[in-house]
Amino acid sequence: MNSVNNSPTRIAPSRVLIKISGAGFGGTDPLEPDAINYILKQIEGIRSQDKEVALVVGGGNIIRGGEQELLDRTAGDLAGMVATIINGIALKDQLQTLNIPVLLQSALPIDRVSDPIDPSRAVSHLRDGGIVIFTGGTGNPYFTNDSAAALRAGEINADLILKGTNVSGVYTDDPSEEGAEFLRSITYEKLAEHELGIIDLAAANICRETEIPMVIYDFFRDGSTAEVLKGKEIGTYVYPDE
Ligand code: UDP
Repeated sequence: MNSVNNSPTRIAPSRVLIKISGAGFGGTDPLEPDAINYILKQIEGIRSQDKEVALVVGGGNIIRGGEQELLDRTAGDLAGMVATIINGIALKDQLQTLNIPVLLQSALPIDRVSDPIDPSRAVSHLRDGGIVIFTGGTGNPYFTNDSAAALRAGEINADLILKGTNVSGVYTDDPSEEGAEFLRSITYEKLAEHELGIIDLAAANICRETEIPMVIYDFFRDGSTAEVLKGKEIGTYVYPDE
């Protein structure tokens, strides 16, 4: 896979969609103040660069549908999607304490707490300098928040998707294995083909359709998100097939 290490030129995007997994919100305690403060700090770093920022938040800190013993898959997935809304409520609340205008939209109807997904409203809010948080995943069981991120990015015409993880990017193997090689770039096709488990096939396919590139990077290294947005070559750049 060395041949894919010839990185195409990265763009400095103006509208980005950042996918933050549930792990970014907490661990043993589902909503950890330090974890959420860290997210706020990263968002402030991005806003100081004058970028439009939309977020898709995961829910794995609260519940992962496919890993439930008690619930069947569809009930577990519904609960998982509700978990993403809980994270969205928390993030909206905290962003508002900083006087940042926030629009919370959900793919699952939940009137009292969130608006439905509305890409054109989201885009005008972004243009006005606000932040949009998309929750509720795709609204369907058997999907992931990576697919939701791919869909929402297409709907708002984002230039780039940022997938924040706890590893520095994509490796040819499990990064803890000796000989695992870091990939500076890879196409969506190859990423899906090699089944590295970084993003699922459905998400990769949507990204191939929308032709929006993605950077997979270590969200938990302070300042990394702001660096990616400046076009700095960190993480792995995933791009549509040539
Ligand atoms: N989920 C779903 N459909 C979607 C997105 C998410 O059913 O379109 C459910 C699924 O059960 C998943 C849970 O929501 O396990 C939390 O999402 P995810 O695991 O993607 O969160 P993350 O790992 O990003 O925290």
